[in-house]
Amino acid sequence: MAKITFLGAVGTVTGSKYLVEAGGKRLLVDCGLFQGPKPLRQRNWDQLPIDPSTIDWIVLTHAHIDHTGYLPRIVRDGFRGPIYANAATRELCELLLPDSAHLQEEDAQYILKKGYSSHKPPLPLYTVADAQAALTRFQEIPRKDPFTISPQFTVKPTDAGHILGSSSLQITITENGKSAVVVFSGDVGRYDQPILNDPEPIAKADYILCESTYGDRDHPKDSPYDAIAAIVNRVVKRGGAIVIPAFAVGRTQTLMYILRQLEERQQIPRLPTFVDSPMAINVTDLYVRHKEDHSLKFTREEQSGNHDPLNTHEVHMTRTVDESKAINNINSPCIIMSASGMCTGGRILHHLARRLPDSRNAIILAGYQGEGTLGRYLLEGAKLARIYGDEIPVRAEIAEVSQFSAHGDRGEIVRWLSGFTATPKQLYLVHGDPPAAQAFRGTVQQQLHWPVTIPAYMDSFDPLA
Ligand SMILES: [Zn+2]
Repeated sequence: MAKITFLGAVGTVTGSKYLVEAGGKRLLVDCGLFQGPKPLRQRNWDQLPIDPSTIDWIVLTHAHIDHTGYLPRIVRDGFRGPIYANAATRELCELLLPDSAHLQEEDAQYILKKGYSSHKPPLPLYTVADAQAALTRFQEIPRKDPFTISPQFTVKPTDAGHILGSSSLQITITENGKSAVVVFSGDVGRYDQPILNDPEPIAKADYILCESTYGDRDHPKDSPYDAIAAIVNRVVKRGGAIVIPAFAVGRTQTLMYILRQLEERQQIPRLPTFVDSPMAINVTDLYVRHKEDHSLKFTREEQSGNHDPLNTHEVHMTRTVDESKAINNINSPCIIMSASGMCTGGRILHHLARRLPDSRNAIILAGYQGEGTLGRYLLEGAKLARIYGDEIPVRAEIAEVSQFSAHGDRGEIVRWLSGFTATPKQLYLVHGDPPAAQAFRGTVQQQLHWPVTIPAYMDSFDPLA
């Protein structure tokens, strides 16, 4: 009997894992880490409900940690098959998985210092060595052509327009001469964004597993160009600096592209721009290498001479800690981009400590700020920020620019679903908090008249029934 089991990203947006079984073989689609509140993170420590050594293959939709961050653990726990991913996803994982392992090791160290561990000494979920071991199991698959894993499973990837390398997977499952097509949306991106391609439509599916992260809302439609230009000009006028806590994958590159465009159109002055994040610098290199994921507009601009659309005219890449600290000495208008995006750690902290007390400066928050993060406190109007144990007065302008989500909103996911030429037997809504998934079920029922199910953890169905 063929079977698909929901092992993650149900009732939450993290931990994506779907087990597909047919003809005695097991394929895992995505292998994500649970992130967020503690009870959810605890699931990373619970034994997987199936023995990892009995899984034959893993295939990935994209490189984000909530879709890949459990790989080092599953390999450590006995998975021995290939991990299929396209070139861009593999190269992003080479950056992101060791970084995730490093954070796990830091967490264990922190718990050791605080002394509240149940393990003695506290153990990381996985180590950098585990991440390296997982990376050796990667095998590259085509960006778009179908490839056959086994007589049971053929996978056809399409561009999901979410991050570099992101795909939706159309998997044909065959057993005893019967077959069915199941589409795994991965994360669905945006339409008409500056850099990445639009999410590609897929014509055929018997069943669809679709994300619903923003299923209950639409993103603001006002222009991010105008919003950024207004802030930059305001800050320049008062002689301040702009600090942007940056998400290394995607967000930094989009912001750079917009700043560059604004400079070209002379809507903002050319300012020294510091990219103070080795990870972001490495990811930008991948954008330049993987042109298959760019929109035509971007490619054309890139070809027109000495043109680097992903960097402002006066860009400075700072890789070393000393270079990073030297930015503190700059007293004229400039732009500083640094990680982490929610101000939870990394070099952004010393930039905030330096720039927050001065009312001429501005901090641009350009992404989701999780509960309990410094980014969220600033967004909510905190007057004091605790950084490295010091209380830092917040006098800088805190500006939110919320147009940069990499996830399609309600209207965009419906648009993507409308590409299917026939009603599926069932649409399963995954990768959404319960209010978002429930609201989106209503939208789909109303607009598309499709049968919709919101599955629970460990639910399963037979796609060949
Ligand atoms: Zn994602």
